[in-house]
Order: sequence, then C-alpha cells, then structure tokens
Amino acid sequence: MRVLIVEDEVRLASTLQDLLELNGYTADVSHDGESGLDNALSGIYDVVLLDVMLPKLDGFTVLRRLRAAGNATPVLMLTARSEVSDRVEGLDCGADYYLTKPFEPKELLACIRALTRRQPELRNTDTLEYGDLKLEKNSFTLSCGDHSLRLSRKEFDMMELLMLNRELVITKENLLLKIWGYESDAEDNNVEVYISFLRKKLEHLHSAVKIKTIRMVGYCLEQT
Ligand code: CA
Repeated sequence: MRVLIVEDEVRLASTLQDLLELNGYTADVSHDGESGLDNALSGIYDVVLLDVMLPKLDGFTVLRRLRAAGNATPVLMLTARSEVSDRVEGLDCGADYYLTKPFEPKELLACIRALTRRQPELRNTDTLEYGDLKLEKNSFTLSCGDHSLRLSRKEFDMMELLMLNRELVITKENLLLKIWGYESDAEDNNVEVYISFLRKKLEHLHSAVKIKTIRMVGYCLEQT
C-alpha cells in the first residue's frame, strides 16, 4: 500500500512518513500543492493525506483538480483549522474524510484502514491466496503447502500486486511506478531483477504458480 503525504510542515510530514512506514505502508511526501497534485495524478497511490494550507496550491484546489481529472483515490484531508466551513468545503470538493490536527496516530491509522477497505481490489485481508500460494501480509511470508519463506519488502510488494491482478497482465511500467514510486530513478530492469528473484522463490517452494512474461507488455500469474 502506497500513501502520498502532501504536507508543507516538513517535520510533521516526516513524522507521518515514519509512522506509516512503521505500520507497513510505503509513504512518499510532497511539500507543496503543485507537486502533490502531480504525484497524486500518477494514480499509483492507495490513499492521499492532504493538508489544507499549502504553498502554490491549497488543498481544496488540489482535491478539486484531482477529482476533475477523474482520479478517485481516497483522500484524507488534514487541517489545523477545525471550523465547520472548512470541513464542509473539503467534503464538497470530494474529500473522503477529515482529520483535525493535532490527531492521534491511532486515529490516523484507523482512518487509512477504513479508506483502503472501501476499495474492493485492496481488501484488507491478512492473507492473499492464488493457486497453491498464500501470501501473509503481516509477516511477508509466501508459502506453498509445507514450504514457506520470507520475502523482502520489494519482493512482497511485487508479489502482492501480481496476486491481486491474478491472470490479468500488469505492465512493467505499472509495477515500476507502484513499487518504486513516481520520482524514483529505478528502471525497467529493476522489475526484471525482482521478477527473477520471485521466480526462484516460487521454484524453491515447488509451487505450480508461474510468473508469465508477456513480451513487450508485462507479467501475469498462471497456474501450470
Ligand atoms: Ca500546512
């Protein structure tokens, strides 16, 4: 799960990033509304945390433009102001939830869980299954029958995406964006390297599931 934090208070932004990463999310930060909007529009995020008072573009404008562009990523607005009019404006713009600063970490995490549960493709179950494979989200464990092994963070993210998409082809570009993020220098061959790690692990587990390469497009799972 990848979260975008759009927050100009640098210390708060990095506290939020630490909190989310400690809780198993991948989190990116934008410090102004303009870059926040650009990043949010990439469509690679599962949730956006959006401050209201921001340089360049305020949070309401960011949200309005995001929705106008047809992007439906759940947005949690964060604001220091608690006036009712702000809440109403945020909800009118298409915010999914509103949290007033200061808030409790527990409250924030509960909101994020609630927002991501609403996306059917990201059902918040602890175990994903496909064919003879089970992927445990809490322990990053991939297992097949009696065999199991632990995946690295990136291997886990990649396996999770493949298992959520099942036999649907996921493009290399999409894998790259979802796993390495919008502003990363990672290249196509990072994807290839991790796919080859995962293939070795599937072999090691004696799984009947294979990662199929669709030439010039991407990858999907298949049961052999
Ligand atoms: Ca602010």
